[in-house]
Amino acid sequence: MDEKYFPEKIEEKWQKRWAETSAFEAREDDPRPKFYALEMLPYPSGYLHMGHVRNYSIGDALAWYKRLRGFNVLHPIGWDSFGQPAEQAAIKRGIQPRDWTEENIAHMKGQMQRLGISYDWSREIAAHRPDYYKWDQWFFLKMLERGLAYKRTSAVNWCPKEETVLSNEQSSGGICWRCGAAVTRKEIEQWYLRTTKYAEELVADIKEIESGWPEKVLKRQRDWVGRSEGAYIDFKVKDRDEKIRVFTTRIDTIFGATAIVVAAEHPILAKVLEDSSLKDQVMAFAEQVKGARAIKTEDAAAEEEKLGINTGLLAINPFNGELLPIWAANYVLMDYGAGAVMSVPAHDERDFEFAQKYTLPIRQVIAPVVHGQQNESVDTAPGGDQSMEMKNAFTEYGVLVNSGEWSGKLSQDALREMAEHATAKKFGGPAVTYRLRDWGISRQRFWGAPIPVIYCGDCGMMAVPEKDLPVMLPDNAQFTGTGESPLRGVPEFVNVDCPKCGKPAIRETDTMDTFVDSSWYFFRYTDPRNETMPFDPSIAQKWTPVDQYIGGDSHAVMHLIYTRFWTKVMRDLGLVKFNEPVQRLLTQGMVTNRVEGTDEYKAMSKSLGNGVDPDEMIEAFGADATRLFVLFAAPVENELRWSETGIEGAVRFLRRVHQTIARVTDDFEKLDLNTNVAALMELLNALGEFNIEQSSASSADVFAAREAIEALVVMLAPFSPHVGEEMWEGLGHEGGLLKDAPWPVADPELAKKEELEIPVQVNGKLRSRVVVAPDISEADLRTIALADAKVQSFVDGHQIVKVIVVPQRLVNVVVK
Ligand SMILES: [Zn+2]
Ligand SMILES: [Zn+2]
Repeated sequence: MDEKYFPEKIEEKWQKRWAETSAFEAREDDPRPKFYALEMLPYPSGYLHMGHVRNYSIGDALAWYKRLRGFNVLHPIGWDSFGQPAEQAAIKRGIQPRDWTEENIAHMKGQMQRLGISYDWSREIAAHRPDYYKWDQWFFLKMLERGLAYKRTSAVNWCPKEETVLSNEQSSGGICWRCGAAVTRKEIEQWYLRTTKYAEELVADIKEIESGWPEKVLKRQRDWVGRSEGAYIDFKVKDRDEKIRVFTTRIDTIFGATAIVVAAEHPILAKVLEDSSLKDQVMAFAEQVKGARAIKTEDAAAEEEKLGINTGLLAINPFNGELLPIWAANYVLMDYGAGAVMSVPAHDERDFEFAQKYTLPIRQVIAPVVHGQQNESVDTAPGGDQSMEMKNAFTEYGVLVNSGEWSGKLSQDALREMAEHATAKKFGGPAVTYRLRDWGISRQRFWGAPIPVIYCGDCGMMAVPEKDLPVMLPDNAQFTGTGESPLRGVPEFVNVDCPKCGKPAIRETDTMDTFVDSSWYFFRYTDPRNETMPFDPSIAQKWTPVDQYIGGDSHAVMHLIYTRFWTKVMRDLGLVKFNEPVQRLLTQGMVTNRVEGTDEYKAMSKSLGNGVDPDEMIEAFGADATRLFVLFAAPVENELRWSETGIEGAVRFLRRVHQTIARVTDDFEKLDLNTNVAALMELLNALGEFNIEQSSASSADVFAAREAIEALVVMLAPFSPHVGEEMWEGLGHEGGLLKDAPWPVADPELAKKEELEIPVQVNGKLRSRVVVAPDISEADLRTIALADAKVQSFVDGHQIVKVIVVPQRLVNVVVK
């Protein structure tokens, strides 16, 4: 073994050996228990960044560890290779998205291989390849059959000049990002997946993964689904046949309602206003609100100034018969609850703000409970109805006041009893509502899986027959950067025969959101070449659910919600037998670097000029040192601050390990055991600096020393596998790979049963050795020593003066 440390030499050697021996390919017929280690698959932008390196180093350390612990480890990787940047590149450079994507994949794969990540490359998949997206389409058809995929009209941001859909970002400020035209709102038909059908399960099943997922992620998921319990109430519209259904989480405040407020899109407006003189005015307002909403994100809508208009109509509060004005306003959204709220300004902040602006009455009906008195009493203004003076809405629970027969009840009781009352009187009842919306998957773009649907003038909308999948993306689309989806400009794609009647028909040109691809990709890894199914359920059953998933917390919602939804759909399709696809989730922290000329650390980015190229690091320090630094520099969930001094420290450490092993191996040959042990101790100290669990190796015993050093090498492997393999070979394991070595076992029983050999002297001269347990009592040691046959032969015929016992060390018998 070479005492100097040449990372590139070692790393190339082992990467080659691993590849030649298919060292990391997982097999289903391996009888050992399985472990599925998964990192989020990358988008092939062209280059790995340090965030990727961190992600994969963490996953690889775990994969190595589990392998050494005797698990049959599945550790695959693939490419999330559909999406907008490939289309941008096509527009900019005049090349096909496919070529750009494949080039990037080739480059990044090389980078991953130079890092020596122990992936099973035989299972590599890429979303943009037809053998993958065929199954996106297959799933879509299954969902279409079951009513889980459907089409509906919805409002989009629209550039009237280019006749194209714009995202919120592309229409920021109400101006088209490309041509500067004023953005309008357009109703177009789009495809949706019915995630709302699984809303309850997405919340309820969290209990199955609670122990393995970070709470911050679960909280975001709960917020995203936004389950609230409350009640619905139907308010009759005075002098009409219509009712307005309202959802509220605070039915206990219903006596404080001073208006009914509906969303601008609420269909009731057109109905109830038919013969009203205010109709034009109200509808114009509604149009204005809808137009403004289309170019704002939802959060922005919640923040913006509240605008409303009185429709002149009245609704009847079913609890007290009171007449309430019906308003339309911009702060009520059609797709939450029922698109209408009862406005209770005294006890809701938005309603309070709205009531102040339009001078609607504010009536207090909940009073704080004053604690600390013998009877809980109510803190309310004298006369009860002085609440016009309220400075803020009181949004806590309390005691009902000014609420007729319900006055005096606690909010908690009133919530239940008033909902029951509504049920009994048939004008409402308890209800659960969710913030979650159905997942809009239509993209008017080229670089995604085509939605497998055909429109025939005679037969209507037809699913593409399963045997005709995949619907392939054409190779000859034009990318101009203006106007509609490039797919519409490819007649060979668009024009098709109707699968039912054979007459000319046209294809759907929308493609799927790329989150479709990433919703189920890790199931495909289990059976990546299956040509008849997305995967064989019996094979997937062997590997899934994923034991440990690792990725950035930017995916806390969206991806991690959609993949949970997809799994539940697959369960209902009979493809899997569980509810949750991922047992444990780790979200690693960001990698930051100093912004030059400042003391600030920010996420590495091109624009800030603080990025670090993994290739340069591998070249300068080696993959192992880079990986070791990344794993050592910070706890996995925390921010990692980049430091080249830190990597240099990792290099020094690896060099020292290397030298130590070389020295120890050499010393074993010469039986220079003391220097051997000294070197080992130094290494232990060095390991201690890196906070790696130490094995006890203080015994001078030569075999113990060797065992300890092997244990150290095995324990180093997850962090620095190339150096690990090199050491392993140097220790005499030629031909075998370290990845097949067993993890060192610290067995407390073994340690206990260990025996000590105690020298027994007679008058200071060594006469025998006895083998005893280390925890033997002094009296027992004395008895055993005196009973030893050799000792007796020296003692016989003499008088024993005294017996000196040094526990665990020595017995000396003094005779005369
Ligand atoms: Zn435009
Ligand atoms: Zn037809």
